[in-house]
Amino acid sequence: MKQMATTKVPEVRDITRIERIGAHSHIRGLGLDDALEPRQVSQGMVGQLASRRAAGLILEMIKDGHIAGRAVLIAGQPGTGKTAIAMGIAQSLGTDTPFTAMAGSEIFSLEMSKTEALSQAFRKAIGVRIKEETEIIEGEVVEIQIDRPATGTGAKVGKLTLKTTEMETIYDLGSKMIESLSKERVQAGDVITIDKATGKISKLGRSFTRARDYDAMGAQTQFVQCPEGELQKRKEVVHTVSLHEIDVINSRTQGFLALFSGDTGEIKSEVREQINAKVSEWREEGKAEIIPGVLFIDEVHMLDMECFSFLNRALESDLSPVLIMATNRGITRIRGTNYQSPHGIPIDLLDRLLIIATSPYTEKETRQILKIRFEEAHTVLTRIGQETSLRYAIQLISTAGLVCRKRRGTEVQVEDIKRVYSLFLDESRSSQYMKEYQDSFLFNETTQPTMDTS
Ligand code: ATP
Repeated sequence: MKQMATTKVPEVRDITRIERIGAHSHIRGLGLDDALEPRQVSQGMVGQLASRRAAGLILEMIKDGHIAGRAVLIAGQPGTGKTAIAMGIAQSLGTDTPFTAMAGSEIFSLEMSKTEALSQAFRKAIGVRIKEETEIIEGEVVEIQIDRPATGTGAKVGKLTLKTTEMETIYDLGSKMIESLSKERVQAGDVITIDKATGKISKLGRSFTRARDYDAMGAQTQFVQCPEGELQKRKEVVHTVSLHEIDVINSRTQGFLALFSGDTGEIKSEVREQINAKVSEWREEGKAEIIPGVLFIDEVHMLDMECFSFLNRALESDLSPVLIMATNRGITRIRGTNYQSPHGIPIDLLDRLLIIATSPYTEKETRQILKIRFEEAHTVLTRIGQETSLRYAIQLISTAGLVCRKRRGTEVQVEDIKRVYSLFLDESRSSQYMKEYQDSFLFNETTQPTMDTS
């Protein structure tokens, strides 16, 4: 296997995630107090107190690392804040804890097998905190000898004689070290440090040659006496990457650039096995720590039997994140079977879930949520939200904003909302329209049973 690459890479975000977060950009957390009690309105969250309280407990357990391999289902009617609560959890997690979101329907559109898409999502949600130790040698420069090449093309080489507390050592100098030496203006008699991992040379003040002087200066480094009697500083560098990032970096066919394009393709199972083995070796040696993050699967009823059995198995692995799922379905057919089950989820998976229920909002709560999204014209939108749906009312905000801009207004007025209300149908008006004009449409099948969206 290739050398494990552990460089810190930028977070990989998929487009869907950014789009989904847009609708929830007002959510900054779960809005809980220190005792994990939900405040009525806080951090952009309104009402839904019981579910937020439950989500708070889950959040604490995630932070403690206690519920890796556990699964949570947020179930409730459309527009009751299931995704908002998941986003609230995401916002409250530390930056070190990975959070990955996907919609159940996405796995059918990706150019890879369903189980591969789920494997990647699982591994994006597992963080590996890697600790690296680098050794720093400190000593007084006795002599520097640099051999300048005859022509300007060759790399510079040279030798450095360094006197540490008990001995003199000669170091071979590469171009980088020579560059560093000249940058620091190092001369014989100076006290320097050499970072063994990077070869970086730094010059120190002459008066700080003893370990306790550095400690007194508040330096966060630890001095140890090494067997040869050299004075060394040990520095710990910590970085967190996801298992998926390690997979991609070490996958021969993809290479790390795939992390930026998101075009990672399928990753061979041997690569994953080798990486799992390497990571568990690092864990045993105390070099790495696993941070179980969160995988959020929205519209989980869109998954089929094959996916559900994958989830069951994946949750049992010792490298598993916390799985949070959401659905707005009641008792419905499990995709790919003729069986019905609550939420379209097989009983064996349901059995291991912690279920959080969300309930419809009161008028006051609907008003408060809408008020957070915009300040003006909320009375009309509240009525629309109550009579149609919260989501429809929220969609009207941005379209009303456009109408307002078109008439060169500075603030959205009730008139703008009325205009977009008349331009765009909500679900019930649209169904009504269909009923009235059914005969004019092609393939009209109103005699068929109601739509099965699975
Ligand atoms: P669906 O079942 O249709 O996926 P959902 O239950 O996931 O719906 P959301 O998408 O979370 O519903 O809610 C719809 C909109 O209302 C989003 O913009 C969301 O941020 C906002 N919202 C819902 N509940 C709350 C809440 N309690 N506080 C603040 N905003 C909320």
